[in-house]
Amino acid sequence: MKRMNNKRGTLVLFTGSSGVGKGTVMGELYKLSDKIKLSVSNTTRPPRKGEIDGVHYNFVTTEQFKKLIEEDGYLEYAGYCGKYYGTPKRQVEELLDAGYDVFLEIEVKGGLQIMEKYPEVLSIFLLPPSMEELETRLRGRGTESEDVIQERLRQASEEIKYKNHYKYRVINDDAQRAAAEVFDILNNYKDSKEN
Ligand code: 5GP
Repeated sequence: MKRMNNKRGTLVLFTGSSGVGKGTVMGELYKLSDKIKLSVSNTTRPPRKGEIDGVHYNFVTTEQFKKLIEEDGYLEYAGYCGKYYGTPKRQVEELLDAGYDVFLEIEVKGGLQIMEKYPEVLSIFLLPPSMEELETRLRGRGTESEDVIQERLRQASEEIKYKNHYKYRVINDDAQRAAAEVFDILNNYKDSKEN
């Protein structure tokens, strides 16, 4: 897996509330570069329809999740709407060593942990055009109950308060445009590190 001649990749902290369209923007980013990878998180929440274990998440039990905490196996982890989510350390390190730019698609509490550990991290907060639009998108997904939607909207208003902790804020008014903006930010960051 290791490609020794490559430069180490860039770690990108990519945060945005549930429903803002992080997945769609990531899909557009993959079209722009084959050097971009998303870190696959562990979670204790059940899979949504269509989600594949090992691709969208590693779906684990609470016991399995806690075991990896004890082994110091997470770069960060957090509780979100009653479930655990965490970034396995080893996978991220391997991908960075192999020269990939690794995106951590994670919520704010985990994001703040990453900023503490890596103050230099390229941090990007993806914003909805408006809270009304976010609600429409969450409902449009059709995968969550009303309770869960309300909880996620509450969580979103809390999370957005932290947007200024991130180096960049990008509005997802259109996934292709937002991905192009994120890609420019990434390339400028890499150029600035090289010079
Ligand atoms: P969802 O249940 O909608 O897939 O994810 C809920 C929230 O958890 C999203 O904001 C998502 O970005 C975040 N998330 C996913 N993986 C991780 C992770 O490894 N760590 C943290 N802290 N948050 C995560």
